[in-house]
Parts: sequence; structure tokens; C-alpha cells
Amino acid sequence: MEGKIRKIDLEISEDKLQKDLERYVEKILELGATKAKIVKAGEIPVDERVVLKCQIPRCFGYGVGANCPPNTLKPEELRSVLKKYKWAVFFIKDIPPRVIVRDKATIKERVAAYQNVFKIINEVESMAFYDGYYLAFGLAAGSCRHTFCGLEKSCPAMEGERCRFSLRSRPSMEAVGIDVYRMTASAGWDIYPIGSDAKPEDIPKGTLAGIVIVH
Ligand code: SF4
Repeated sequence: MEGKIRKIDLEISEDKLQKDLERYVEKILELGATKAKIVKAGEIPVDERVVLKCQIPRCFGYGVGANCPPNTLKPEELRSVLKKYKWAVFFIKDIPPRVIVRDKATIKERVAAYQNVFKIINEVESMAFYDGYYLAFGLAAGSCRHTFCGLEKSCPAMEGERCRFSLRSRPSMEAVGIDVYRMTASAGWDIYPIGSDAKPEDIPKGTLAGIVIVH
């Protein structure tokens, strides 16, 4: 009898794998992403300079959460891990300019948009896991310190205690060195550099991104 959870199959055919990846893309779009596609793990751009930008100028999330630099996986470690994988699903979620810029008036909408990216990652990573891709893992956008624990004084996971959102929280793509701007532009999708002083009238949209490395 076949249940919902598949048995571990060490010889997954390329055909089955591609069909599963297509299902994940569909699911990602259904859950609220704007665009999604299958990508080769070997083509994910990892660059130390992305993490350098967390420090220069110093991001307000730097060093204050367990899933941000310098406390998370280093680009070199990710590069080495990615060599073991072949396929991933990558997506973006477009959000209105007034929501992406740092404005207190739109903080709730901004946090909700980031949480949606985490939710997509959580669900698709879980789907892949139960389909037998048990080493699948996802990376989200922004800092979990602000997306989940913005009202808290500290991150307990940095003090050896349990993360408040242990299954939901994870590093962002950029926190581990993935060049999200390059990856999005290479996919043929529009993305704009948005700094701390960006004005909504100067940008057509904001973009959040996420990825699930599947197999
Ligand atoms: S406790 Fe909060 S800030 Fe710390 S890792 Fe978990 S979600 Fe992130």
C-alpha cells in the first residue's frame, strides 16, 4: 500500500526528479511567490562579497541572531555543500515599494511578506523531505531576528538555548553568501538595489527571494 510519505529510494530517476521539481515550483507559486523556477545547484552564485556587505556598512541584523553572519554557515562551507547537490527550486516574491522600504508605517506588511517567504520554504522543504529528498534544505530572505523575534530583546539560540522558531527559522540566501541580485537577474527577472534610504517613488517594486536545495 502506498501512503503519502514515500519510501527512501536511492535510485530516483531523472524523470521522476524533474516531475517533483515541477510540483515544487507549482506549490511555491500557489503559496504566494511571484515567479519560481528549477535551477541547477552548480549555477547558484556564491560570493564572499555578499557577506562582506553585512558588515560594511554594518547591517542592524549583523551578529544579533543565530542565523545571520558571523554566526551562520560561511560562503566557503556552502560552496562545498552545494557540490553534493544537483537541483534546487528558486523563487522571488514581489512586494510594493512602500512595503519594502524601511518605514515604520508598513512594518506589519513587511514582516508578513518575509514570513510568507519562510512559510514557502518550510512547506516546500518539508514536501521534498517526505518525497524522499531527505537532505533538502531551504534558505529564506532577511533576518529571522527581525522576521520572528523583532519584539524580543535577544536571540536565545546564541546563548545555547532553543530557538523560539526552531523549525521555521533559517538563514537567508544572502546570509550564507548567495548573490541574490545576480541570481534573480540571471533568471531574467527584474530586481532593484534598495538601500536604507531608498524612496518608494524611486523604485518600481521590492523583491524578496528564497531557495530550496532539493537533491
Ligand atoms: S530565536 Fe529568533 S532570532 Fe534566534 S534564531 Fe530563532 S528565530 Fe532567529
